[in-house]
This record gives sequence, structure tokens and C-alpha cells, in this order.
Amino acid sequence: MSAPVPPAAVPGVRATRTTDTHCPYCSLQCGMAVTAGDRPATLVPLDFPTNRGGLCSKGWSSAELLDHPERLTRPLVRAVAGDRTSPLVESTWDEALDRLVGAIRRTQATSGNDAVGCFGGGSLTNEQAYQFGKFARVALRTSAIDYNGRFCMSSAAGAANRAFGLDRGLPFPLSDIAEADVVVLVGSNPADTMPPAMQWFDAGRERGAQHVVVDPRRTATARNASLHLQPLPGTDLALANGLLHIAIAEGLVDTDYVAARTTGFAEVRAGVAAYWPDRVERLTGVPVPDQRRTVFALARADKAMILTARGAEQHRSGTDTAQAWINLALALGLPGRRGSGWGTVTGQGNGQGGREHGQKADQLPGYRSLADAAARAHVAAVWGVDPDDLPMPGRSAFELLDALGTDGGVRTLLVLASNVAVSAPDARRVISRLRDLDFLAVSDFFLSETAELADVVLPSAMWAEEDGTMTNLEGRVIRRRKALDPPDGVPDDLQLLATLAGRLGAGRHFSGDPETVFEELRRASAGGAADYSGISYRRIEEERGVFWPCPADDHPGTPRLFSERFATPDGRARFVRVEHVDAHERPDAEHPYVLTTGRVLAQYQSGTQTRRTRSLQLVAPTPRAELHPDLARALGIAQDDVVELTTRRGRARFHASVTDTIRPDVVFVPFHWGGGASANALTDAGALDPVSGMPAFKVCAVAVRRVSGPEERIPPPPAAAQPRPAAHRVAVAPRAHPPSRSTPTDPLTRRTPVKSTPRFLQGVFPLTGEGLAKPGPIDPALRYTVPAGCSAQALYFRGGNSTGELVYVLLVRDGEPMRWFPIGAKADTHVPLRVVEDLVGGSVVELHAAAPEGVTGEIVVDLGLVEV
Ligand code: SF4
Repeated sequence: MSAPVPPAAVPGVRATRTTDTHCPYCSLQCGMAVTAGDRPATLVPLDFPTNRGGLCSKGWSSAELLDHPERLTRPLVRAVAGDRTSPLVESTWDEALDRLVGAIRRTQATSGNDAVGCFGGGSLTNEQAYQFGKFARVALRTSAIDYNGRFCMSSAAGAANRAFGLDRGLPFPLSDIAEADVVVLVGSNPADTMPPAMQWFDAGRERGAQHVVVDPRRTATARNASLHLQPLPGTDLALANGLLHIAIAEGLVDTDYVAARTTGFAEVRAGVAAYWPDRVERLTGVPVPDQRRTVFALARADKAMILTARGAEQHRSGTDTAQAWINLALALGLPGRRGSGWGTVTGQGNGQGGREHGQKADQLPGYRSLADAAARAHVAAVWGVDPDDLPMPGRSAFELLDALGTDGGVRTLLVLASNVAVSAPDARRVISRLRDLDFLAVSDFFLSETAELADVVLPSAMWAEEDGTMTNLEGRVIRRRKALDPPDGVPDDLQLLATLAGRLGAGRHFSGDPETVFEELRRASAGGAADYSGISYRRIEEERGVFWPCPADDHPGTPRLFSERFATPDGRARFVRVEHVDAHERPDAEHPYVLTTGRVLAQYQSGTQTRRTRSLQLVAPTPRAELHPDLARALGIAQDDVVELTTRRGRARFHASVTDTIRPDVVFVPFHWGGGASANALTDAGALDPVSGMPAFKVCAVAVRRVSGPEERIPPPPAAAQPRPAAHRVAVAPRAHPPSRSTPTDPLTRRTPVKSTPRFLQGVFPLTGEGLAKPGPIDPALRYTVPAGCSAQALYFRGGNSTGELVYVLLVRDGEPMRWFPIGAKADTHVPLRVVEDLVGGSVVELHAAAPEGVTGEIVVDLGLVEV
């Protein structure tokens, strides 16, 4: 698909050529045409089916980095071999590879094969990801390989495999979004993360489609939605179970679909009985009427879909949370219907293909299981090795990183396309583990924070300098095409692995040619869940991408999955009962707020590339912590002040962004920066999802303090003030349990005591009625303002009425009625208030009363609250 331009007539001026390829960044994989030859390269968007001529600022600026002055073009090694305090200096490839291969051999000889590890990334091409998995198992014969997608897509993948027998992010093309009458987006903000995708949502809205966004922040996506639900981070599972409870109670379940296409509904039905709307409101903060609106909209639409993303999935119960939304979709009969279903919005550029072909700890190509004897035999035959020589599954990403440098852990590590020093949770702990290694080698385009720690840094070709395939968020396999040559002598990661394998004596099994590797990948994936055997470079060119599974040359590919059957042995989707679990770490007196993390429009992942892109730096030069004005006021923080966030793992500093788009009890920080502004220095890796190994990126407890007024450069927190990284230990996996059965002695549910103060609005007051429709304040004493920095909850209301007529007492918050309490003639009432949402700092609560005109007498009121 290259269009060479004839050589210029002017001597010494090189010809240019224009090549159709794709953006290097997110999973939308927008089409673009890159013109190169006379550097700098330029690009324009293409009318590809995903982006239809659109690009976001990251895509537009992606060519800026090809000639960046900080680009690595020569290998770097430590000036004194083995001494990582000595500087990194340029070396020859021979020297760098000799040091790496020497370290691999030494480690294997002294500590065994599993002491050499590999860590990959979701931006590698399919060929590179496939070859990396094979390199680990065949050239190194180690079980120690995993990748950064474990921190991204693994929970959704775990849920989809469990429910449908297959994990493909969107089981339908993006264009189906425009057909849906209702779309519920849970923890997803495509307006910022992949703006060109919004044209599909916009097309739906123009037809009158309703969009519901579930997000603790009023994001750009939420602002354009019909309804925004703003739950406390970590409670999406409870919300989904609550919506299913309502669907069952209101007779909205598609019983024919459930009977014909699913199993396990009875168990789920029993489980969600405990998620009645008022309880869900208390757990999540989402008002009952909004819960009901969401369920009725989904159930009454001809076509409806639920899309989850990292906000819902990056939790220690991320797999169960995705499953809860799948359960709801199944109950409403959505999956497998055109324009309907459940899907997950993949993050990284090859987040989909990167998780299919063997760079996961437990996986062989084609989504085969490394623990399955038939799968081992099939893949070993393609690779020309003995199946018994293939290692068994190894540790998941964080477990692998947390054991670095220990006996039984990895001692020599090769990292491709990943910057774990910024992107891994509890990043300071991971950095200390990287320092514990005997040897670290990193392949990257720039000296990332991880590469800075390495013994050897290997420069690698960038996206526009390599060939291969990627698989986008829809499961569409597309071509990454080489638009220009890399700097002299710089290989891509496919060539690097082939070279390394040769030095390790396994060269005959490996190739540096992408199409040769893809042909082998096709054979290795044949018959697997992600079957690429019918896909070829030629077909991708001709058809503008092919959707997997595609099991034969004459198979058309599969844009829509599950229309006839699910990929389970009996063809039925699985309901799975799941239960809300409290966040691993909850706010307490020392860390009183909830921290959540995420992305911003002008940065990507760990920022290795986008933080070096000049035009993006102008938009997002420094990380900003979002705080609600109430919280900022309580803490004396103004816009742009420097604030320090502290969790049990570390401290980091940010500019304050004071905005009412966030819940008052939640602080948001983006995770694209390292060093003193590392969001992941704060995040919690103390409990991993038991299915996916996902850490709890989205919820931990945090303290906030103002450091100074606005400063252009944010000073890092003093090193002496940083907590010491946790000692090596095996991470504890959570166990799901019904909340009603939790006990105070269970360490998984034990809550840190929170200091609370009871408040009462009570007394006996005269009443003169002006009509039941005309309530008014009873007495100034019955007015209470929640102190700034605190929240309050109403626990009960008791009332007595001495008159001979029905009267009402009204609970009013900030001038708006919250609840009406009728009290019969000469009667009393007692109403538990488990249903009332939390009252945030600054809220004003009052009691009003109404009685028929002319009625006089006395009322007794007693409203009990607790202030936290
Ligand atoms: S939306 Fe994603 S793929 Fe498209 S230009 Fe932006 S970063 Fe690149």
C-alpha cells in the first residue's frame, strides 16, 4: 500500500513515499498515511473504518517523535559492567548483546531457567508478542513471562472467557454503537481517550439514542450523556447487581433468551436478591430513581449495549465486576443480537492481539492454555520442539515483578515495550525490585524510567519503521506498515529476538521477518479460540482488516460473535453469581479520601512517548490532581496550587485542578508521569484479582495537603518523607463473599475504625398548618450544616403528631426535598434511613413540616445523623 513518488529531479534530494498505516497509540488504531523520505515525516488521517478520517491530538503528533533528539539509536551499557551506579554509555551491539547473553547464561547456571524472565507490552505487534512468548518458552525455557496488559485488559478478558468462552474486546464492529438505542458506558471515557470513536456515539445520539455514563467524574463523555451515574469508585459491581435486581423485580428479564441461550440464572437471581435498590444507593451513591431509569432504558430499547472499561475493571474484583455487567446484559437478552451486547473498550494499541498469542504467563498462541496437554502438543509441533520441554504457567505480572531478585524469583529480566517503573502499581516498590535484579535489559525508543535502571538498554525501531499486524478493539486484524527505515543499525523487536535466540543457540526456530512469523502464528493459532489461520497479509490489504476468528482462507472473518451460539462447550453463555467486596483499602482518619487514577486526552500510558511530544506537552505539561471545590476549600487549596498526595505506599505531588466534575470524597490523578508525580507511587497492589491478577489501580485511601502556591515545576516530595517500600511477600488474593455475612474478624472485610460523631435534630415544636402542599421550616434549631471535610449520613427519623389530621415532615437538603415522612393523626412513626445518600461537607439539612390549612397542635421530631 505504498505509493512511491518518482525520484526528485534535484540531485541529492531523496524520493518520498506515502504509506498507509495506523496510529501507534490506542486500540482504535486510526488509519493514517505517513509520507517519508525527506525527514521529518508527515502524516494525514485516512478514511479507515474505525476513524473515518478522524485523528486525536496524539495521533496527529505521533510523527514528531521519529526524529526526536532524545531518540535512542545506539545501545547503552553501564560504564562499569555490573555496577548500576556507573553511568550508561554508548556501546556496540556486540558488547550489549554479549553482556545480556552472558547474564542469561550465568543466571540459568546458578538459579535455573525460571530465574530469567521476560516482560512484554500491549503495544508490540502480533508477530512480536507471539515471538516473545515463543522466545521465553523455546530459547530461554522459562515460565517467567507476562506483560503490561495484565494491568489493563485482564479482568475483562477473564470475565468474557468465563461467560462467553471467548474474549474479544468488542464482539461486534464499532459501527454497531451507532445502531444502539441505549448505550451504558461503565468506567469509560472515549471522548478523552479515543475521540475519533465518538463519531459512532454521536451518530447514535443524533438518531435519539440515550447514553448513560457510569463514572465518579463528570468526564467529557459524561457531559454529553442523557444520564450520568456517579458511584463511589469500586462499587460498580454492586450497581450492576442492583440493576439486575430491579430488572427481575419489574419483570424486565428476557426469559425466553435466558432459557434458550444461558445457564446459571437461578443462582445469580438468588444472589442479586440482596441488592435491593436502597441498599445499592447506600453502597454506590447512585439514587434509586437513576438506577431505575437505567434499567428501564436498557430493557425497553430495541438495541442496547453495555460497555465497560478500566474504571470498572482495574479493581481487585475487576473480573467479577465485568461479570456483573455481563450478567445484566444476558438477563436482558442483549449479547449476540445485532446492535446490542456487552463489550469492553480495549486500551493499548495492540491490547487485543497482545493478549492472544502467548506473552501471558498462562497462555499459548491462539488463546490456548499452557496447562492444556492438547494445546501444548499442537503448538510444540508448530515450533518443532518436544511438548514436554515447554514450561508450565508462570506468575502473573505483579507477582512476577514483586518477586524480582528473590530466591525463586527472576534475577535477569528482559523488558520489551513496557515502562513498569511508571505503569505498575505501587511503583516505588517495583522500582526497588528492579534494583534487586542481578541484570536488567530494556528495549525501548527512549530512555524510559525503567530503562534508566537497566544494565543494558537496546534501542528499537518505532511504529512507522516496522512491519507487522495489530488487532484493534473490535478484533479486526490490521497491517502496521513500514513507512521509513529506522536509524542505521536499529532493529525492531522481532529482529532483536531472532538475533538473541541465535546467540542462545536456538536461532533455527526464529525469524526476523514479520510475514514469515505471521505465517507461523497462523498455524499455531489454528483451531484455537483466536484462530488467525485464514488471515493473510494479502487479505488484510484487500479487505481493510479481517475480524478473527477466521479459520480458513475462504472464511469471511467474524465481525459479530455469538449470533447463533457462544464459544462454550454447550453453546450457552454462563451467568456467574458475583458479590460486592469492599475496596482492599478504605479511607480512615489518616487517609480520609478515595484516590482514583486514569488518563488524560493529551498523554498515553506511561508517557514515555507523549511526554516527549512538544505539541502534547503544551496541552498537558504537568499532572493535575482533580479535587472538588468543597474538598479544596476545606483543605485551603486553590486552583494550580501544588498539592501532595500521600498513601500508605508513597507520596507524590501534583498541580491542583479544582473542579466540581468529581465527587467531593474522591481525588483523581492521571498516571502518565513518573518520578515525584507518579500516580502509581500511590496505588495499591496489596490485593490482586484472583482470576485476572489485576491490582486495585482505581481505589485506595489518600491524604491531601497543600504544599505551595502555583509553581511551574513541581518539587518532588522529600525522599526522607517517603514510606519504605513493602518487603517481599506473596500478594494476598481476595475472596468474594456476601456483604451480609462479613464478620469483624475477617481480615478481608475488616474495616479500619472511622471516627464518627452523632448529630440529632430533635425537639417538640408547635405546628400551624398552611396546607399540605405548603411546607415550611419548623424551627431554626432543626437546621444542620455538614462541616467541610466531613460527610454525614441520616440514620433514622422518628416523629409524633398531636393533631387530629395527617401531617408531613420533610427532610430538605440544600433547599431540595430528600424524603417525606407522613405522620398519621395522633400517631407516631419510625423510619430507618438506610436509603438516604451521603451528605457531603457543606450540605445544609433542614426539617420542614406541612399540615392541612388551619390545623394546629404539636409535633415531635427526632432526626439522627452520624458525622464522619
Ligand atoms: S484515537 Fe487512538 S488511535 Fe486514534 S489517533 Fe488518537 S490515540 Fe491514535
